[in-house]
Amino acid sequence: MTTRQDCITLDQQDPLAACRDKFALPAGEIYLDGNSLGAMPRHVVARMQEVMEKEWGQGLIRSWNDAGWIDLPRRVAARVARLVGAAPNELMVGDSTSVNLYKALVAAVRLRPGRKVILSERGNFPTDLYIAQSVAEMFNLEIRYVDSTPEDVLAALDDSVAVLMLTHVNYRSGRIYPMHEITKRAHDAGALVVWDLAHSAGAVEVALNDANVDMAVGCGYKYLNGGPGAPAFVFVAERHHKEMRQPLSGWHGHARPFAFTLGYEAAGGIESMQCGTPPLLSMLALESALQVFDGIEMRVLRAKSVALTELFIRLVDEKLAPYGFGLASPRDAQVRGSQVSLTHEQGYAIVQALIARGIVGDFRMPDILRFGFTPLYVGYADVYDTVQAIAEIMHSGEWNQEKFITKKAVT
Ligand SMILES: *Cc1c(COP(=O)(O)O)cnc(C)c1O
Repeated sequence: MTTRQDCITLDQQDPLAACRDKFALPAGEIYLDGNSLGAMPRHVVARMQEVMEKEWGQGLIRSWNDAGWIDLPRRVAARVARLVGAAPNELMVGDSTSVNLYKALVAAVRLRPGRKVILSERGNFPTDLYIAQSVAEMFNLEIRYVDSTPEDVLAALDDSVAVLMLTHVNYRSGRIYPMHEITKRAHDAGALVVWDLAHSAGAVEVALNDANVDMAVGCGYKYLNGGPGAPAFVFVAERHHKEMRQPLSGWHGHARPFAFTLGYEAAGGIESMQCGTPPLLSMLALESALQVFDGIEMRVLRAKSVALTELFIRLVDEKLAPYGFGLASPRDAQVRGSQVSLTHEQGYAIVQALIARGIVGDFRMPDILRFGFTPLYVGYADVYDTVQAIAEIMHSGEWNQEKFITKKAVT
């Protein structure tokens, strides 16, 4: 049996233990929802105070030049690029994941004229499928939905597929697709691949260029801790820059935005993926937040993430066997992201009872209890305390109360 003391010892040996102090988490709280909304790095408060008072309050319009606002998307992009194995000139920050996916999908479809299919999986995050449906309608394409295993995806590749669109780490199960192999097989079939890194960036190792990926998008407010509604990012491999055409031809993607000419002329390169004026305040917060990754290798983060999820599963096996939980995430750590999902009929109420105890996970329909382990601010004793709390909630029937059973608007 694993003891709490074993977990405290692991915390004492953890090379990332000191990172926790960089985050402004509520005292005593165990936050296991960084895969939905990352925690706030403390130093962002002072930086935003400075931004508000000096750059916006006093600098006003001058700050576009004097505070370097105009180069901000590129600066932030360089930080994100390092975390996902991209070159700085292949990644742009701005817009939301949904909007970036729209731009990338249209650009990819246009690079494969004559092909009729967008291939994706049924279990993909809904917004990804909704965006694909709109693109399919506009370009008169068909969406081919397959089941989630890599084998199902590979079996559905043929010469009618224009674009394969997949989410690298599944939001419900946390399962990781083999990015290198799937990308290669899609290329062998003549298709392009667009990967969604929403649950990957900042949590698992991603090597976009090593895997020869064509395009990718990802989220700023999950493991990158950029704050609610933080700008997202889009990656396009340099080999596609010359030919690509994205549909949202706004002035920030123009070659000379301040020439105010009549016709659109793409900036060329990744700059063309920009559209309109970015949400500066959010982007400045994201830039500041990303400093917590300075000097940290993704390899080290991933090692701790794996250790945390392995520990969680081991403790669930040891302590929760009598209570009817299932494991919805892979047991094999190699194909598991930074989350573990359990299933239980009373999942919603159990999550609410945990939140009432200051342990924040989330619930996904119909029966998934989702626990995200952000290696920057979650420790081994936190994992122990979480499983112990679930055992107590189940043993006492604490979950079985009206206030925990009634669903709120945002789960
Ligand atoms: C979180 C998430 C999104 C979020 O998209 P928004 O446009 O930021 O709302 C998109 N796709 C996946 C796979 C996600 O996990």
